[in-house]
Amino acid sequence: MVDVKQLKQRVCDAVDRRATELIDTADWIHAHPEIGHQEVEASKRLAGMLETAGIPVEMGTAGMATAFKAVLGAPANTPRPRVAILAEYDALPGLGHGCGHNLIGTSAIGAGLALQEVAADLTGSIWVLGTPAEESAAPNSGGKVHMVNAGVFNDVDAAIMFHPGTESAVTLDRSLAARGFEFYFHGRAAHAAGAPEEGINALDAVVLMYNAVSVLRQQVRSDVRIHGIILSGGAAANIIPDYAAIRYRTRADDSEYLEEVVQRVVGCAEGAARATGCRLEWKEYMPGYENTMPNKVLLELMTTNLRSIGVAVNNERRRSGRGSTDFGNVSRRVPGIEARIAITDVLETPGHSVAFREAAGSDQGRQAMLVAAKGLAMTAVDLLTNPDYLKKAKSVFDDDLRAARR
Ligand SMILES: [Zn+2]
Repeated sequence: MVDVKQLKQRVCDAVDRRATELIDTADWIHAHPEIGHQEVEASKRLAGMLETAGIPVEMGTAGMATAFKAVLGAPANTPRPRVAILAEYDALPGLGHGCGHNLIGTSAIGAGLALQEVAADLTGSIWVLGTPAEESAAPNSGGKVHMVNAGVFNDVDAAIMFHPGTESAVTLDRSLAARGFEFYFHGRAAHAAGAPEEGINALDAVVLMYNAVSVLRQQVRSDVRIHGIILSGGAAANIIPDYAAIRYRTRADDSEYLEEVVQRVVGCAEGAARATGCRLEWKEYMPGYENTMPNKVLLELMTTNLRSIGVAVNNERRRSGRGSTDFGNVSRRVPGIEARIAITDVLETPGHSVAFREAAGSDQGRQAMLVAAKGLAMTAVDLLTNPDYLKKAKSVFDDDLRAARR
């Protein structure tokens, strides 16, 4: 008979024993930010920690150089059930670890290392998955979406991860579904003073589109977000720009309404092209992120475990404002939960900010990473000692999916 309480104590002790090593890694990644798909050093360090502990790691999962899959537990062809613990380690361009992914990656490795010590007492196995490019700032981002599409999650029974936040909460709140588009306007160059009538102004098309989208914002549901940057707006003030481009992210509570919004945004682009005489091309520059579908059974296990080690988990969230995550796609493929743990006491600290970056390198951030590693490991212990949990999680998952499709 397996003593679950004792196993949980052992994984917590293992994290404590490795605290210095984990903190050093989190700090190192924080000080050496790499953006999506370029997380060469971060992925090498994280995978290296597992390898040093004798856990085989396969790099290049789903065709992404900085992705990895570590299999721990019994022999390489490990049995079901299988719990995946997800690591992220990408940074934001110009801002560094303003989303604290240095802590996410390290917590997943900490959990994996701890679980290896009790693997012989678990039924099933654990995968630690290195998932690159969560931030949509990098081209072809959405490492988890690529992994879902490559079938990596076909053989997984649950996926769990941690994300730093401004409050400690494990909730059923769903992230926003998000998609990304680029619009390219092709005009004709001409001397801006000598022969403007010969030109077709691509920058004008971008400006018109920007304004049309700004007007559109008032006529859509309040959960919708549309935000963009101008990628190209001409080369010189004395040349009518023959090319200009703009990138938008569009988001909404659900994918169905988001599709309607996308059609209207495309309409804004078409109108701007028509008005200026430009030729329009556009594309979806990254895979869509689905809204998350947090699993209630996993939520309850994770909450209980975090509370048992002193985390003040308050699942009545006090702060509104939601982003999007490629974990959404995972959570619609297998039962999943993402636990938030506070890395600052300042509730108002916005994500993707300098203040959040500082919190991700603070002592509170480091401690949150350690308790996250424990919470993840303890939850994996629950799932791999009592098959009822995964059975229930799957049945709730099926119900949620049916409800979402209704
Ligand atoms: Zn993030």
